[in-house]
Amino acid sequence: MSPHLLILGGTTEARELAGVLAARAGVRVTTSLAGRVARPGALDGEVRIGGFGGAEGLADWLREQHVDAVVDATHPFAAAITENAVRAGAATGVPVVVLRRPGWTAGAADRWHLVDSLADAAEALARFGRRVFLTTGRLGLSAFIGLTDRHFLVRSVELPEPPVPPNTQVLIARGPFTVTDETALLREHRIDVLVTKDSGGEATAAKLTAARELALPVVVVRRPPLPEGVRAVADAAGVLGRLGLDSA
Ligand code: NAP
Repeated sequence: MSPHLLILGGTTEARELAGVLAARAGVRVTTSLAGRVARPGALDGEVRIGGFGGAEGLADWLREQHVDAVVDATHPFAAAITENAVRAGAATGVPVVVLRRPGWTAGAADRWHLVDSLADAAEALARFGRRVFLTTGRLGLSAFIGLTDRHFLVRSVELPEPPVPPNTQVLIARGPFTVTDETALLREHRIDVLVTKDSGGEATAAKLTAARELALPVVVVRRPPLPEGVRAVADAAGVLGRLGLDSA
């Protein structure tokens, strides 16, 4: 019978991997999405949407659907689903491969301030100017609501979830972004400081180059740690290698 692979998705890498795996003869691929985005783009293979009901629910799903391997290709900050995948894998004996795009690294000219959470990022902003470019996503903006003397430009793919800080201008946009456009945006809005998660990847890295060129400080939220003992692979080739499909 064809092996059944479950991809935990919601990222560009997951979409690309579904394309690579679905093109393999004799491989059944299902991508799972949390259901946060109203109109997710088309995906190769099968798609299921919505939570599983914790690690136990995911383990049940793996058994019922006769899943042979799981690839956790979720966002580096989606720590709960990664933890659940590792636990469900341990409970069922189904192998779990964690795919994580590499994080960003600061160059000599960068003015980065690393913090561990959005709450710490909010606290760090006291050191910088009033006009903040916030690119940490549509969720978790409540961490900044106490900063009533700051002006926020919030960019996200969909409308931010309330509560948002009082002086907020929202920009709905989806990457990839170019350095030229990011530089123009920072200038136009007279941004003093950028806030980002260490999401990694090419699509949204241009803002960091633009900030460097304008000598702006950047508050970078570190990634949550991977579950104990997990060694992630960085790309689709790494996933194929772990699944034993690299020479197929
Ligand atoms: P999370 O905190 O790790 O997960 C919360 C719950 O959402 C999980 O316990 C699970 O519910 C459900 N879930 C998450 N990903 C799922 C998936 N791919 N398929 C089915 N259920 C899923 O996740 P999050 O940070 O809210 O992110 C949700 C999704 O958005 C992820 O798929 C992630 O790849 C994507 N995303 C996240 C970010 C970010 O910054 N966090 C950015 C871009 C994209 P149950 O316990 O009920 O199974």
